[in-house]
Amino acid sequence: MQKTKKINLKKIYSLIKSAQKILITTHENPDGDGLGAIISLGMGLRQLGKKVVLYTKDPVPQMYRFLPGQSQIKHKLGLKEKYDLTLLVDLSELQRVSPVVEKHKGLGMTLCIDHHANASPNTDYSFCLPKQSSAGEIVYKILLGLSVQINKSMATNLYTAIATDTGSFKYSNTNKETFLIAAKLVELGVDVWDVALNCFETYSRARMELLKLCMKTMQIHPKGKMAWIVLKKKDFKQTKTRSEDAEGFINYPRSIEGVEIALLFKEKEAKKYKVSLRSKKYVDVAKIARLFEGGGHKRASGCTMEGSLEEVKSKIFKAILKKI
Ligand code: 5GP
Ligand code: MN
Repeated sequence: MQKTKKINLKKIYSLIKSAQKILITTHENPDGDGLGAIISLGMGLRQLGKKVVLYTKDPVPQMYRFLPGQSQIKHKLGLKEKYDLTLLVDLSELQRVSPVVEKHKGLGMTLCIDHHANASPNTDYSFCLPKQSSAGEIVYKILLGLSVQINKSMATNLYTAIATDTGSFKYSNTNKETFLIAAKLVELGVDVWDVALNCFETYSRARMELLKLCMKTMQIHPKGKMAWIVLKKKDFKQTKTRSEDAEGFINYPRSIEGVEIALLFKEKEAKKYKVSLRSKKYVDVAKIARLFEGGGHKRASGCTMEGSLEEVKSKIFKAILKKI
């Protein structure tokens, strides 16, 4: 694919205007931001009479099944269908969507809509605003300039996108604009407590069992600035849970007084670990994840590493200990 061209809102509107059939997708293991952003964008574009297909590689996690319109998301994509425009939302690289999208020859023009710094989307166009808290905020801005009515369902999706990516408006990506947009969305009818109940205040019993197992693995480095937790495949099997049930667990090791960096090592298959990183105040964990072909944000990032747990830990700890 050719070099990605950065474009402004005006150009986005002209791309949308000239497209009839539009594919909208987000990254694998979709989160509240990716889902809320694509569903609301899809609803908006349908109001303009566009034929919209929503796709994610992985299913919608249980905690996000309350989102109005989530059932319209497809998880299979035929390689033969042709689109005029494909919108890739909340991802920094095309590879994070799914191998199907990567291989697809009929995507039409491709536009990445994202808030990751250092995004290298490998799309035709990109609209990336790293200062925005979430893809939801960016989609809200896009919708404002289209002749669409942001209804309660769309507002609920957008609010969920923003609330989840800011950890309930408390992470360092939260600013005045985040609150102003959230206020507008609440004015449009969002039930704030209902979103919070679904996203933050409900643990299935199985998930609570997983948390119990996970907390037993928590360790703190002798220097006191790094703490980590581990989840093995057998833990998910034993508790009948899925990877998504571990969402937010990493905040516990980060919350320890004096800890700057927290890690979660999640076994994906034998000798393969998904590593999540979080920092509190000063370490740019996106930089660390990029050393291992991952990426993300300054305070939240991830990568996948091969090797035994001891090997993976030793490699990434070496990189981290230079920074703390
Ligand atoms: P999580 O730890 O919740 O899986 O991911 C936190 C953030 O790190 C995500 O929002 C995403 O920005 C980034 N991230 C996680 N895994 C990867 C990865 O494998 N590649 C890239 N580029 N970013 C990732
Ligand atoms: Mn996001």
